[in-house]
Amino acid sequence: MADIINLLPDNIANQIAAGEVIQRPASAVKELLENAVDAGATEIQLIIKDAGKELVQVIDNGGGMSETDARMCFERHATSKIQSIEDLFQITTMGFRGEALASIAAVSQVELKTRKKGAEVGTYVEIDNSFVNKQEPCQTAEGTSIAMKNLFFNVPARRNFLKSNAAEMRHIVDEFIRVAMSFPQLQFSLVNNNQQLFHLDKGSLKQRIVAILGQHYNARLVSVKETTDYMNVYGFVGKPETAKKTRGDQFFFVNNRFIKSSYLNHAVMNAFADIIPADGFPLYVLFIDVNPEHVDINVHPTKQEIKFDDEKLMYAFVQSAVKHSLAQFSITATLDFDL
Ligand code: ADP
Ligand code: MG
Repeated sequence: MADIINLLPDNIANQIAAGEVIQRPASAVKELLENAVDAGATEIQLIIKDAGKELVQVIDNGGGMSETDARMCFERHATSKIQSIEDLFQITTMGFRGEALASIAAVSQVELKTRKKGAEVGTYVEIDNSFVNKQEPCQTAEGTSIAMKNLFFNVPARRNFLKSNAAEMRHIVDEFIRVAMSFPQLQFSLVNNNQQLFHLDKGSLKQRIVAILGQHYNARLVSVKETTDYMNVYGFVGKPETAKKTRGDQFFFVNNRFIKSSYLNHAVMNAFADIIPADGFPLYVLFIDVNPEHVDINVHPTKQEIKFDDEKLMYAFVQSAVKHSLAQFSITATLDFDL
């Protein structure tokens, strides 16, 4: 009987795997912004054309890449961030899977320009459908620029699944905000079709929240801060009067990584239970810092779902931290009122 199994060529394997990591332009935005943060950049620009369908470009002033790394970075499982499985539980970078650039290169046309700090020349790499078209020395600023063009040009079925420009742009802005919120000490900008949507100067978390979500929050944020041996919780919640009718301005970051957790959301909502209307959604921007050995972030390729080793403890801690700060706020509010 004839053998019927064959190994898929790398570019096809990459195209298939890319479906998990790069679902839409916003997925590339997240991955490229996180790479810039991991590279130690202090200024990060995001440039979008046609809701990312034509162009998603991130320019950073981080560490840059050597000539060899500039080619290597597009290989599947190519990463400078971990070396062993144990490293996963001490991770301090946003990335570690070595899959983002390989996935992006498999479903778009990529132009990379990069120069290491102090190097005389940089490297230009052009990739199309996972194949290197061109690699040559170039003049470029220190740091890295990666441009992803014509997403899914070679996978028309997936291109057809993309939503309207307005909808894709909303996803892009969401991802941009999540990363920018999590690193207020870095400068971020977002330009869409030559129009600047955000320019966020370095500053405090409070300044960043107000710059992103609006001036009306300025005098309406309550600080949350609680520390134990196991974890720290810090950030802000909105005063009760800022609760909205729609879910929206709610962010959890675990070790600086944006996560979705209906469980922890419930803990915060519980803390607000008696002080906002039952159908209201309070603002919260909460950071949980915990020893990486207590969380598994490798549950899903986009890393937005994570597992804690002790979920109940997390819940209780988050709830009490928020309750505590709200209680202090209401005491102050009463005093103000009495005076
Ligand atoms: P991961 O981030 O999981 O390591 P990626 O595919 O996103 O995987 O990137 C592969 C590697 O390319 C990174 O580990 C890093 O060494 C390098 N790299 C990617 N983006 C940048 C950048 N903006 N600046 C410097 N190095 C980068
Ligand atoms: Mg990455």
